[in-house]
Amino acid sequence: MKLEANVPPGELAEKWKNYRGSMNLVAPNNKRRLDVIVVGTGLAGAAAASTLGELGYNVKAFTFHDSPRRAHSIAAQGGINAAKNYQNDGDSIYRLFYDTIKGGDYRSRESNVYRLAEVSTEIIDQAVAQGVPFAREYGGLLANRSFGGVQVSRTFYARGQTGQQLLLGAYSSLSRQIHKGQVKMYNRHEMLDLVKIDGKARGIITRNLLTGKLERHAAHCVVLATGGYGNVFYLSTNAMGSNVSAAWRSVKEGALFANPCYTQIHPTCIPVSGEYQSKLTLMSESLRNDGRVWVPKTVEDAQAIQRGEKRAEDLPEADRDYYLERRYPAFGNLVPRDVASRAAKVASDEGKGVVKTGLGVYLDFADAIQRYGKSEAYAAGIDNPSAEKIKELGEAMVKAKYGNLFQMYEKITGENPYKTAMKIYPAVHYTMGGLWVDYNLQTNVPGLFALGEANFSDHGANRLGASALMQGLADGYFVIPYTIGTFLADEIRTPKISNDLPEFHEAESRTRNRLEGLLAIGGNQSVESFHRRLGKIMWEYCGMSRNAEGLKKGRELIRELRKEFYEDVYIPGTIDEFNPELEKAARVADFLELGELFAVDALDRGESCGGHFREESTENGEAKRNDEEYTYVSAWEWDDNNPILHKEELEFENVELKTRSYK
Ligand SMILES: Cc1cc2nc3c(=O)[nH]c(=O)nc-3n(C[C@H](O)[C@H](O)[C@H](O)COP(=O)(O)OP(=O)(O)OC[C@H]3O[C@@H](n4cnc5c(N)ncnc54)[C@H](O)[C@@H]3O)c2cc1C
Repeated sequence: MKLEANVPPGELAEKWKNYRGSMNLVAPNNKRRLDVIVVGTGLAGAAAASTLGELGYNVKAFTFHDSPRRAHSIAAQGGINAAKNYQNDGDSIYRLFYDTIKGGDYRSRESNVYRLAEVSTEIIDQAVAQGVPFAREYGGLLANRSFGGVQVSRTFYARGQTGQQLLLGAYSSLSRQIHKGQVKMYNRHEMLDLVKIDGKARGIITRNLLTGKLERHAAHCVVLATGGYGNVFYLSTNAMGSNVSAAWRSVKEGALFANPCYTQIHPTCIPVSGEYQSKLTLMSESLRNDGRVWVPKTVEDAQAIQRGEKRAEDLPEADRDYYLERRYPAFGNLVPRDVASRAAKVASDEGKGVVKTGLGVYLDFADAIQRYGKSEAYAAGIDNPSAEKIKELGEAMVKAKYGNLFQMYEKITGENPYKTAMKIYPAVHYTMGGLWVDYNLQTNVPGLFALGEANFSDHGANRLGASALMQGLADGYFVIPYTIGTFLADEIRTPKISNDLPEFHEAESRTRNRLEGLLAIGGNQSVESFHRRLGKIMWEYCGMSRNAEGLKKGRELIRELRKEFYEDVYIPGTIDEFNPELEKAARVADFLELGELFAVDALDRGESCGGHFREESTENGEAKRNDEEYTYVSAWEWDDNNPILHKEELEFENVELKTRSYK
C-alpha cells in the first residue's frame, strides 16, 4: 500500500493559502444535502461539529458522555499556544513551526506542522470572540506564559482551567447549531463499529448506553475526534473514560494506526501512592515557569526523606541538586517534557527520589515566593519589608497564578505546597500516535477523517506543552471545514445513505455478537483487574525506557493476558440495559490489541527519539536518534499474528535535522 500524504505543492509558507484558494468547494445548496457524522465532542469534535453545522452540512454528533462539556478536554489546565508574538519576544509562525518540529524530534510532517502554526493565531481570535476569559495583562492585552521546550512566551491561558473555558466556548457554538437543528446531538451514545460501503466510510454502529440499544447511523462521511489512548497504561492523567475503541474499530475496518508507541510521559504529575489507585493527577507544566526541580545531592538524605525523618526545607541549598538547571543551563526547568521526565527517572533510579516509593522529585516554589514577594513589596512602596511580609506578598502572587492547582495538590496529598515543596513524578499523559491521516486529515479509508488527539499528525515523537489544545481546535475550526470538501465535493450526487443497507445490518450483528461473546465468557475476574495488569506490563516493558528483549517479552505477556481475558473475564448483566461493565470490557478488549501493536511498533523503532529511550540507542548516556534508518512514520495495518508496517518517509526541506540540545 502506498501512503499518499497529499501535501499540496509550493513553498511551505504558501501551501495552505494556495490550497484553500484552489481546492474543490461544495456549494451551499449542496452542503444541505450532505450528512456528516462527528464522533466525539471534545475540543476537536465540538469545534468540527459546530463549524460544519454553521457551514450548512447536516451533522450528527456523538459522545459517550452525558454532555459534550464532560469531554476529557475539560481537564486541560496550562494553556494553548499561538504565534501571536504579543510579548514582542521574537515569536513568529516559523518559530512555532520550528519549535514543534524540533520538539517532536523531527518525526512529524513539515507541511501539517506549518499549517498548525499558521492557523494558531486564528484560534485565539475565535475563542476571544466566543467569550473565553483568557488571562489579561494590566493594560487589557491577553497575557502569555512560557511552556517547556521554547524560549518565547506564547501560551494563552485561563488560570489553570484553559481546557474547560475553551470547551465552554466550543460547546456554546455547538449548542447554537443544535438549537438550529443543524447538529443533532447524541449524548450517551458510544460508537462501536465503523460501516464501510464500497470502500468508503458511510456510517457507524452505536450503543445507547442508557438502554443498551444498538443503532445504525448513516452519513456521507465520518469524522472521528475521539481522543487519545493513554489509558492503555491503566494509570494515566487521562479521564477514566478515555479509550481507543472508535479508532481501533476503524483499524479493524482497514484504517492504519500510526506511531502507536509514541506516548508522552508528563514530568509533573502527583506520584503514585498505592496499588489500588486508578487515576493519576497532572500538575500543570505551567508550574515549571516558577517551580524549581531538585533532589538531594546524596542518597543518604534522600533515604532520610523517604523515611519521613527529613523534609525538603531541612536541606540547605548546598545539599540540593537542581539537576535540570545544572544539566540544561539554556532551558533549565523549562526543558521539554521528554527531557524533564527522563531526568526525573534518572535521579530516582540513582536512589535520590523523595517519596516513600523512591519515585518522586521536588518542585519547589520557595524561591518564586521570595522573588515575587520582594518585587510586590517594592511596587507597593514598602521599604525594608519583613520576611513575613515578603512571604505573604509572594504567596499571594503565586496564588493568583496557580491557586487552583495548589489547592488541588493540597486536597490530594494533604500537604501545603506554599509551605513545603511539591513532589512530582512522570506519568502517562498524552498519545502522539493515532490514526494515520494525510494533509486533509483523511485516513487511508476514503471518507473517514480523524482530528485532535485521535490522529497522529502534528507532534512527532514528543508534543510540546500547550500544543494539543491548539491542534484540536485548529483541526476542528480551521482545517476540516475546508478539507472535508475534498472528499464531499465528489459526493454531491450521492443520495442519502440508507442505514438499511446490508453492510449496516452486518456491522450491527458483528457488534452484537462481539458484545454477547464477551458476556458469555462468564469467568471469574473483573474487567478492571485485566486492565490494571495490562497497564503494569505496558509501564514495565514499553514505558520510558525500552529494550528489544523487554519489548518482545512485553508482547508475549500481553498476548497471554488477552487469551486469559477471553477465558476468564466476568461481566454482569446483559447487553440490553445500562451496563457500564460491558462498556469497559469492550474498551479493555481493544486496549489489549492496541497494547500489543504498541510493543510491536516500539520494537521496530530501534532508535531513541522523543521521550522513548531505547536502551540500545544511546550516546554518552543520552538518547540517540537514528535519522539514517528511522525518519519515517510507522503506519500499521492490523493483523493478529503479524501486524504489517507501511512507512511514510518524512522529508525535511525547511529545517535541518539536528541533535536536539537544550543545554
Ligand atoms: C490533565 C491534562 C491536562 C492537559 N492540559 C493541557 C494543556 O494545558 N494544554 C494542551 O494543549 N493540552 C493539554 N492536555 C491535552 C489535551 O487536553 C488533550 O489532548 C485534548 O483535550 C484532546 O482533545 P480531543 O478533542 O482530541 O479529545 P477529548 O477531549 O478526549 O474528547 C474525546 C471525545 O470523544 C468521545 N468519544 C471517544 N470515544 C467515543 C466513542 N467510541 N463513541 C462516542 N464518543 C466517543 C468522548 O466522549 C469525547 O467527547 C492535557 C491533558 C490532560 C490529561
